[in-house]
Amino acid sequence: MQKFDYLIVGSGLFGATFAYRAKKANKSCLVIDKRSHIGGNVYCENKYGINVHKYGAHIFHTSNQEVWNFVNSIVEFNRYTNSPVANYKGKLFNLPFNMNTFYQMWGVVTPGEAIEKINSQRKYMLDRIELSDTKEPANLEEQAISLIGIDIYEKLIKGYTEKQWGRKCTELPPFIIKRLPVRLVFDNNYFNDRYQGIPIGGYNKLIEGLLQGIEVRTNTDFFVDRKHWEQVADKIVFTGKIDEFYDYKFGKLEYRTVYFEEEVLDCSNYQGNAVVNYTDVEIPYTRVIEHKHFEMFGDEIDKCKKTVISKEYSVEWNENIEPYYPINDLKNNELYQKYKSLADNESDIIFGGRLAEYKYYDMAPIIEKVLKMDIE
Ligand code: FAD
Ligand code: UDP
Repeated sequence: MQKFDYLIVGSGLFGATFAYRAKKANKSCLVIDKRSHIGGNVYCENKYGINVHKYGAHIFHTSNQEVWNFVNSIVEFNRYTNSPVANYKGKLFNLPFNMNTFYQMWGVVTPGEAIEKINSQRKYMLDRIELSDTKEPANLEEQAISLIGIDIYEKLIKGYTEKQWGRKCTELPPFIIKRLPVRLVFDNNYFNDRYQGIPIGGYNKLIEGLLQGIEVRTNTDFFVDRKHWEQVADKIVFTGKIDEFYDYKFGKLEYRTVYFEEEVLDCSNYQGNAVVNYTDVEIPYTRVIEHKHFEMFGDEIDKCKKTVISKEYSVEWNENIEPYYPINDLKNNELYQKYKSLADNESDIIFGGRLAEYKYYDMAPIIEKVLKMDIE
């Protein structure tokens, strides 16, 4: 039996970037993945020439020049800029909240007019918070109204957030909404990062580039023959679920899950944008993704006569569906710490990525982390 330096469990961005770096350091690697394909959650399925983001829309964004140069050395990135549109009962608004949104909402045309309108709408909530014991917003509703006013809260935040989180805004923590930028300029770019885009040819090109020349076996679950896999290499890089690695001995970690309903349509352009959020509570899905707009621009859109859309629903945690977003509440974090203390004592096993570290990572921070690791 050939003995490898590293067995890498999982061919997602963490595993693939680690394998790439290990190969550069002259280490031998074997990558296994239980899915039928490589790439983990960034994997795309090509349908009618369109790269369909099978596990949810992925937009690469970063301000880290080293990470940006690294990914572009594997595959060139296109000029896609994420500019989602919100649909509230058939009326459209630009996101994130910026001068375009304020014009559409109130007809205000200057930043001064927008500030005046926002301030008049925030006032009653700020007064209410001032009278409270803590003098801090107590929940997401209070935070949102005190940031941006009642109209935007009711039309663009309340329904979307309650569908996404499955709970009332008054029961959600304030910090969730602070992530969304509020801008007094006409700028629909969802991210503040310096660089963003989608790999030209799709994310599979990025993963294939990272794994070039490395032995990979798909349809191979580490746990089906654990004893065997533990012997094939000196060290293991494990990117699967940490609780599963320890046989759930302390209990199961929970995830927030999304479900995608995919449709192929006989038209070349369904909604004119990659992402449209449905912000009223009556429409059951949170957003509709039209995949071709991530990679097709100008005339290319009409040349491809079909289009593929995915309606995204938030669903309650259920062990039989894909684990997506870790629920980093107190209970789950405490449970994770128990597993982590076992993992910290393993000398030949590296636990990395969103499932093994039970942490939501965007793609760029995953790469940044692997680029910083000492691989020996
Ligand atoms: P994964 O991609 O999950 O890879 C883990 C791999 O391990 C999988 O292939 C799995 O099959 C394999 N595996 C697990 N257990 C075993 C086992 N027992 N045996 C063998 N193989 C196993 N980031 C952004 O930067 N921008 C975005 O727009 C964005 N959108 C997102 C949307 C959604 C819905 C989600 C869930 C995430 C999004 N992300 C986004 C985050 C991004 O997906 C992650 O940063 C990245 O995929 C993490 O890579 P990973 O290698 O840690 O995990
Ligand atoms: N949000 C909203 N309306 C929107 C988009 C986002 O109210 O149209 C809220 C929602 O509560 C969400 C938060 O803003 O959880 C952060 O948005 P982001 O897009 O960063 O959330 P993600 O989908 O990545 O969790």
